[in-house]
Amino acid sequence: MAGGADRSKDGPAGRDASVTDFPLPVRGVEQREADARHAGERLPELLARGLRRLAITFVNHSGAVLVKGVPLERLPQVARDGVGFSPVADAFGATGLIDPLQSLARPDGDLRLIPVLDTIQPLDPDTGWAWAAGERHHLDGSLYALDQRGFCRRQSALAGPEAGGSGLGLTAGFEIEWMVGRAGGPDGWQAAVAGGPYGTDRLIEGLDYLSALADGLDAAGLPWLQLHPEYGSGQFELSLAPGEPLQAADRLVAARLVIQRISSRFGLRCSFSPMLAPDLVGNGGHLHLSATREGSPLLGGGTGPGGLTAEGEALVAGLLEQLPALLPLACSLNVSFLRLAPGRWAAPFQVWGVENREAALRLIPAGPAGEPAQLELKVADLSANPYLLLGGVMAAIGEALRQPRPLPAPVVGDPAATSAGAAPRLPLSLADALVAFRASPVLREAMGEALHRTVAEARDAEVRRGEGLSQVDLIASTCCWPLSGG
Ligand code: GLU
Ligand code: MG
Repeated sequence: MAGGADRSKDGPAGRDASVTDFPLPVRGVEQREADARHAGERLPELLARGLRRLAITFVNHSGAVLVKGVPLERLPQVARDGVGFSPVADAFGATGLIDPLQSLARPDGDLRLIPVLDTIQPLDPDTGWAWAAGERHHLDGSLYALDQRGFCRRQSALAGPEAGGSGLGLTAGFEIEWMVGRAGGPDGWQAAVAGGPYGTDRLIEGLDYLSALADGLDAAGLPWLQLHPEYGSGQFELSLAPGEPLQAADRLVAARLVIQRISSRFGLRCSFSPMLAPDLVGNGGHLHLSATREGSPLLGGGTGPGGLTAEGEALVAGLLEQLPALLPLACSLNVSFLRLAPGRWAAPFQVWGVENREAALRLIPAGPAGEPAQLELKVADLSANPYLLLGGVMAAIGEALRQPRPLPAPVVGDPAATSAGAAPRLPLSLADALVAFRASPVLREAMGEALHRTVAEARDAEVRRGEGLSQVDLIASTCCWPLSGG
């Protein structure tokens, strides 16, 4: 861990000319003072709720949630000035170690991690911990070009609900799948809650755990729609309520922390790894999207296939075309690509279909209670940095609507059973997906050269980490993802 915490406190500005290739917003003095005042106004209410400590997080290029904790009383000062964080944090790889070949693997520089005040919520009220999403800025107040949440926020402003005059609205929500177990056993992992797929027996076996989890989510102000056992051994699933894209990403981060906390309180480990054993189903982190134009749904109520409107067709067609390039943002581990095999409902085919669970894009028609029609991106897993993923998806949607292309016919039935070539597979490895990511002008332009390049470097590091490892060792190396060490 060369270069980390010690150097992050009061180091020099760390401005790297290569990361400022386009203008980024600056938090001027007035903004900083306004944030300090706003924080001071919120503080009494937070303290009155028993909150005493604040965990400020960001998600690095490898999808790990990194944190600085501060006494909550310091909120006004921290809201103004942030806390130090070394830029090397984006060179931490899947197992937390710095890859020395990455350009960010440098000992110098410092950034300020600023808590986003309207995201503050309880994390574990019994211990007084609150949580806030953070965004990293340079010491002069300008947004750090590599800040993942900053990228997502910029894309929301362009393609999302606030898009100036475009009237385009996007809503997103994640499903979280995880396995509950204990490290050990012949596969390096043993399921800890018995019971069959979707089984009420597993619900009952795990009822104390799930009840504590539901309480934890409620206490953290995280709205959820469904919680139940999934198909795999010891596997559960939580569907988070949809919201604006940035909010959906924040909710995913916070909900995973709550799941980790409750699991460890029960003496259990939870794993969000896409693959825990070669013959088990994996954990997905499916992304649900709905879209409107001037308030009217784009993915339903139209006359196109599956009820798509003309713009909905363009959206699906564009997203489908860009899926290979988006894959390194949706699946950042080598083992992600072991999960993306046919027959696991991880949907590894570059096709779309109505209610087709093997199609990378599954169109879900409008629900009986007025739920809008949705598109489910099933390939995504929880190694994704949700801010990068949503930012990339919004960039792809923006481009898809600007440059409409024809939509192929939906696939009915198992894509693996269609005639050869009719249902192309998505890239089979991280290295292959990375070629498409690097070649994508849409993503490079939206992310900015430096963010695009350094995310690719982070994936290169993961590819290198996997070289020479057997499949079993590879799976074991991230079996408790995101937990590493110990
Ligand atoms: N566990 C499957 C995956 O890896 C998804 C199962 C489902 O919810 O359809 O994505
Ligand atoms: Mg599921």
